[in-house]
Amino acid sequence: MALLEIKKFGCPVLRQKATLICDITDEVQQLIEDMFATMYAAEGVGLAAQQVGFTERLLVLDVRPRDPLSEPLAFINPEILWTEGECIGEEGCLSLPGIVGDVRRPAQIGVRALDGNGREFEMDLDGIVAKALQHEIDHLNGVLIVEHFNAIKRNLVRGQLRKLQREGKRQALGLTYK
Ligand SMILES: [Zn+2]
Repeated sequence: MALLEIKKFGCPVLRQKATLICDITDEVQQLIEDMFATMYAAEGVGLAAQQVGFTERLLVLDVRPRDPLSEPLAFINPEILWTEGECIGEEGCLSLPGIVGDVRRPAQIGVRALDGNGREFEMDLDGIVAKALQHEIDHLNGVLIVEHFNAIKRNLVRGQLRKLQREGKRQALGLTYK
């Protein structure tokens, strides 16, 4: 098990679209394990592969800190099948430390994916887990919460983003320690 470096805004991998996983190899399973460990260490509730420098269509989620009845889940090649309703809630992101803002999303979603063992499953979700999953699927499509912010909010965080961007670019060049 290894802790992976979390990529910050400005690191180009965060803008890449993830590619489908055809084969669930030992490497993929190792990556899932490492992503869970990295997410827990960072006290996040979700993590997408791009956030640790990979471009596989893979994310992990554990919203138990916010919803004790949920369980830790890995989603490989997740697809949103349907959406319904709308809700607005504050979101943050491990790749954008210090930045939170309102994001409007569908309130309920249906999703299909493979689990860590390659078994296909479908789930209907709402509440915090639906929100977190949509946030992570956005990452797989190269989309960050700032794209959901309104113009006023984007203006407010411009300075913070510029700082993070420098950090992300240094990461891309391999110039950071952690
Ligand atoms: Zn995020």
